[in-house]
Amino acid sequence: MTDIRKNYIAGGWITGTAEVENRNPSDLSDLVGTFAQASADQLDQALDAAARAQTEWAGYALERKQAVLMAIGNEMKARAEELGTLLSREEGKPLAEGKGEVFRAGQFFTYYAHEILRQIGENADSVRAGVEIDVRREPVGTVAVISPWNFPTATASWKIAPALAYGNAVLWKPANMTPASAHALTEIIAKQDIPEGLFNLVMGSGRDVGQRLVESPKVDAISFTGSVPVGRGIAQAAIGNFTRVQMEMGSKNALAVMDDADLDLAVSLALGGAFGGTGQKCTASSRIVVQEGIHDAFVKKLVQGAKDMKVGHALEAGTQMGPVVSEDQLRENLSWVDTGKSEGAELACGGTRLEMPHEGYYMSPGVFLNTTNDMKINREEMFAPLTSVIKVGSYDEALATVNDTNFGLTSGIVTTSLARATHFRRNARTGVVTVNLPTAGTDYHVPFGGRGDSSYGPREQGIHAREFYTVVKTAYIAAGTPA
Ligand code: NDP
Repeated sequence: MTDIRKNYIAGGWITGTAEVENRNPSDLSDLVGTFAQASADQLDQALDAAARAQTEWAGYALERKQAVLMAIGNEMKARAEELGTLLSREEGKPLAEGKGEVFRAGQFFTYYAHEILRQIGENADSVRAGVEIDVRREPVGTVAVISPWNFPTATASWKIAPALAYGNAVLWKPANMTPASAHALTEIIAKQDIPEGLFNLVMGSGRDVGQRLVESPKVDAISFTGSVPVGRGIAQAAIGNFTRVQMEMGSKNALAVMDDADLDLAVSLALGGAFGGTGQKCTASSRIVVQEGIHDAFVKKLVQGAKDMKVGHALEAGTQMGPVVSEDQLRENLSWVDTGKSEGAELACGGTRLEMPHEGYYMSPGVFLNTTNDMKINREEMFAPLTSVIKVGSYDEALATVNDTNFGLTSGIVTTSLARATHFRRNARTGVVTVNLPTAGTDYHVPFGGRGDSSYGPREQGIHAREFYTVVKTAYIAAGTPA
């Protein structure tokens, strides 16, 4: 009989009413596992258990809560090799990236473990004599975490860790394409000293389990990472119940390469930013804005670099780019290649399906040249191993091009001019900006988020996460007169 991986609801492992198979995108003959899908009743059960458990958890002594988060983080770091292998097997990113993601996810837990002891309120004198004011932060209640497949462990961890650290209960609805990583993290959390129902894993499709979750009045806050259309629907569902939302969505990040840039650095940043994670990153460099003086030399090396990239099985040594996550995603990517060509862009390399020894969703990294910023391939997120070069005449034109987008997550500049770097850092309209670094790759102790259609609601990560996971209470106390 098939071993079905279960949901974790109200402190118990429970089968659902249906299940889905999860296959390795590097090798479709490899069945990663079969995963239960939560039913509507089970979701309600989890929500009721979460509300009960949250009160108990919020009353735990600080060091007891801290020990829980620290144990989760330390175990993830210690098992980064094993869990990173599982992640790469189900998602398709090269092993080094999979291991790095699990280790980073562990760091979110250990970071927020420390934050538990740093929750200090404010106090003030009242405008009324003899009255004192105490301003403190309290948990929001039950948080729904809805995460995507592209960073199945890290994205969820940067939501779950602060949610728990600030005293909340969690219902986690992971992407149905990457349930194995979600199940593995849940096994670690379930072992800890937490009240039954504090943490629940509810696997299932977004349309079904996800939609029901975001419409529930029993959810106090929703932290979502995913696409713009789904985010828009979630915001609309949430407003009906006045549920607070935090959303990280699409992007169209640009890397600006100036004439004075170090050529080799610029090429390596562009290649890593465009094709790391098979281009399936919200921080990917999908527009490379290049000044005309360096353009030809840069393009020559960029195209050569893309052609030289070793595409292969995520778990094989030497693989630089793994497969695309699914057949649907691959089909969509190939249709972007057609769109680019029909708009007049020149496909200098790649952009085709690759046949490999294992059957999987392999695609060669593609570079579009001679593109303009008004083309669809430069306006909409492709989430593919495809990038576009846009030639510009000046720094001012480069900055204007970078900012000419509906999104605003990350942007970067490659330059040796301090004045340009400073001007860019201050005037790029993105939530994250980098100088001589890739557009992808951020720290865990500082805020992360974007502008425009990229984000909605308070920032994630670092102590800024507190804004979302807590509510402020103002208490007035009449001091009285000592007897
Ligand atoms: P989706 O928006 O399709 O899905 C994200 C999550 O939402 C999944 O768990 C999905 O479930 C769930 N979901 C889908 N429909 C609903 C619904 N109606 N109600 C509630 N939940 C729902 O995105 P992808 O998973 O395809 O991820 C890729 C997208 O995520 C890209 O557009 C990318 O830019 C964005 N992203 C943004 C990041 C950021 O920080 N800005 C980081 C990473 C990705 P299921 O898949 O199981 O159906």
